[in-house]
Amino acid sequence: MCGIVGYLGKGRALEVILDGLRRLEYRGYDSAGVALVASGKLQVVKSVGKIRDLERRIWALSGEEAYHLGIGHTRWATHGRPNETNAHPHVAGPIALVHNGIIENYLEIRKELELAGYTFQSDTDSEVVAQLVRFYYQGDLFQAMGKAIDRLEGSYALAVISEEEPQVLVGTRKDSPLVLGLGEGEYFLASDVPAILPYTRRIVLLENWDRVVVNPQGVVVVGADGKKVDRPFQEITWSMALAEKAGYKHFMQKEIFEQPRALADTIGAYVSPAKGDIFFPEGELGEGVFSRIVLVACGTSWHAALVGRFWIEAQARVPVDVEVASEFRARNPILDGGTLVIPISQSGETADTLAALRIAHEKGARTLAVCNVVGSSIAREAQGVIYSYAGPEIGVASTKAFVTQMVILYLFSLKLGLVRGMLERGDVSWRLKEVLSLPRKMEEVLSHEEDVSTLARELYHVQDFLYLGRWLNYPIALEGALKLKEISYIHAEGYPGGEMKHGPIALIEEGLPVVAIAPRDVVYEKMVSNVEEVRSRGGQVILVGFSGDPLEQRVDRFLEVPPVDGTLTPFLTVLPLQLLAYYIADKKGCDVDQPRNLAKSVTVE
Ligand code: GLU
Repeated sequence: MCGIVGYLGKGRALEVILDGLRRLEYRGYDSAGVALVASGKLQVVKSVGKIRDLERRIWALSGEEAYHLGIGHTRWATHGRPNETNAHPHVAGPIALVHNGIIENYLEIRKELELAGYTFQSDTDSEVVAQLVRFYYQGDLFQAMGKAIDRLEGSYALAVISEEEPQVLVGTRKDSPLVLGLGEGEYFLASDVPAILPYTRRIVLLENWDRVVVNPQGVVVVGADGKKVDRPFQEITWSMALAEKAGYKHFMQKEIFEQPRALADTIGAYVSPAKGDIFFPEGELGEGVFSRIVLVACGTSWHAALVGRFWIEAQARVPVDVEVASEFRARNPILDGGTLVIPISQSGETADTLAALRIAHEKGARTLAVCNVVGSSIAREAQGVIYSYAGPEIGVASTKAFVTQMVILYLFSLKLGLVRGMLERGDVSWRLKEVLSLPRKMEEVLSHEEDVSTLARELYHVQDFLYLGRWLNYPIALEGALKLKEISYIHAEGYPGGEMKHGPIALIEEGLPVVAIAPRDVVYEKMVSNVEEVRSRGGQVILVGFSGDPLEQRVDRFLEVPPVDGTLTPFLTVLPLQLLAYYIADKKGCDVDQPRNLAKSVTVE
């Protein structure tokens, strides 16, 4: 998930690599390391924490060498805790390797290599690749890497060096990014362009399965079919800031558009489409004998929990309570050994959620965390953890973490339903099929961004908004309102449609924008009544509904999402609401990624 930098050239490897790693910082990391070749010997320095911590240890390198060759890495752990041994580069004999991504068949290869007498230092999937390259190595690093990757399943970007070939840098990629930079007598490999932009603007975007070898004679790229390919370089004209955001204006915007990928990665980590089943890390569900489940969270994660409750109750038939973490800990909650407490937190450091988790342990409840950051406090302290694969979320207003939390809760509800005998395998299979179709449908919703930005241009000066939804989309109404408040500072209220008559209807006056979330599900007809009530009082209705909905003609604005099974609509309906908040805030000139008074992870109470 994080960053790679590789260098071969005039002798400033250490400087370029450290600088590149710093520029990759925004991707998030938990540890970092460098490997350099000097006088025919590998030198490796690693550290847990930030690049600053790594820099403090650089003295461990011998002298003021002019390093001509080196690789560096910032890690966002997926396999094995973030400690020094698991940090990259991984060394195997004369070879050092850095890896981004996940090797799915690493256990199988590790066993095979162990039988052949190889020993492993770390728990990572990446070290297996380093050892595999060593296994095939007979003095030609490029050839050995080629043989090794033929064995790999999963995703990878690799940069590899050998102390036996101090003039050679090799790299390859599949489903993880890697670019090649061409300087004056210098060559660079990096996970993305900004890492090396100060050194060169001539960039080759490598394609999946490309293998590249660099030596003082130049560069050779070999394609998937093993034949030499000509990959022309591009002259990069972006500014640094823009490059870090991959061309997007803000991280939040980038993260909104990353959601189909984030969802696909999270589904891919747990679902086996071939077996029609879901596999969570061992033992976490046991026999599924819980008399009650309590979901505890704050902010957007709390909204994910509210949606999750519907799924768990419907599919696994276990009663679920959803708690705001600060309120939960304020009283003396009743918990026992039959209760499963699920704390949900993107960062895994949210202070109130962490405190709630500790209370759950004190009272003898079982615990299972849902987190996005590996090795975070909540992930470490909970008895079990299911990670989301959103990747680092930088924008303060959470988007991609939210949809991945939801999909974990959905998969959890299916698995629990299956374990408890409430669902048949056939039910699970067809539901998984629907889930697997979500990333593509999300892409489709996001492709209508222009409609939303036009609407934002019309509405950005408004003072108040009302969001209405029912059933699964009531929490989405809350989330839409929260997004708008957070980043555009416009007052917004989210309400269950059925509650409108009990108060909020008094707010409706000529022109008040009311966002009604009304996909064709079991509460559709009731939402239609809400829409009519708003219209007859002069409110401006913005309807989020399925494409082709006849209501389109009766409302002021229509934001369409493709039809999907009624229980999965939140994955699609939330997207136009995120975009609406984003474009309104941007139009108002607000600081979208760092809204006033807010912090990304609330580690204080
Ligand atoms: N899967 C590897 C690990 O856990 C690489 C993670 C990354 O891309 O940073 O070490």
